[in-house]
Amino acid sequence: MELPVVLANGKTLTIEVKKSSRAKHFRLVAGIYGIKAILPAGREAKELHDFIASKESWILKTWEYYSRLRQKMGCDSEEPASRTKTIYYLGIPYTLQVVKDRQQFATISDNLKVITFHVQDRRKYRRFVKEWYRQQTERIVSDRLVGIGNRLKLQYNRVSIKDQKSRWASCSKKRNLNFNLLLSAAPLQVIDYVIIHELVHLVEFSHSDRFWHAVGQADPDYLEHRNWLKKHEYLIRID
Ligand SMILES: [Zn+2]
Repeated sequence: MELPVVLANGKTLTIEVKKSSRAKHFRLVAGIYGIKAILPAGREAKELHDFIASKESWILKTWEYYSRLRQKMGCDSEEPASRTKTIYYLGIPYTLQVVKDRQQFATISDNLKVITFHVQDRRKYRRFVKEWYRQQTERIVSDRLVGIGNRLKLQYNRVSIKDQKSRWASCSKKRNLNFNLLLSAAPLQVIDYVIIHELVHLVEFSHSDRFWHAVGQADPDYLEHRNWLKKHEYLIRID
């Protein structure tokens, strides 16, 4: 389990939560690849919020120390500590890393939880991150849509992946579906929910009780999935 934490200086970092049967109290442990919170048995992760808030200055200091160390070791090569960013992919927070290279490509390290974007011009890396998201979202949405469309027996027309600021998806009267290019930042089940939501709009245009009933039939956990989007929307962006 991971907790996103927004620090007073606007930086976001993720704290990994580890359960421990031996621990008696909440505790924070720091290392080169991040900060972990130790959760004693019988305590709940949501109780950690206050504890983490009370340790904010320590977290900030420690995080800066390890950022500098990572840089020295070449893990963060040219990225200054203040530029360390989090990028979500399929619901998992990764550290976004940008390195200058002759060719443009991206690699994902699931062990280190780092996505590295190799770019020719570091100043324009955002454009590549967007393009990368667009490709991921296009691949995943077209893949999931076929199965879900068949299951719900709903016919749609064209599918577009768009750079839209404020919506995860939309549909038109011509039965065209649009999805936000950042949608692949969300877990698969949440992506499925967004697809179901738009497909159901093809038969029920407004957010009526009938609409939500149909969504609930297709995705019994839709409330949880909707909440995930609400909770994460301010963390999922390219900046
Ligand atoms: Zn809707």
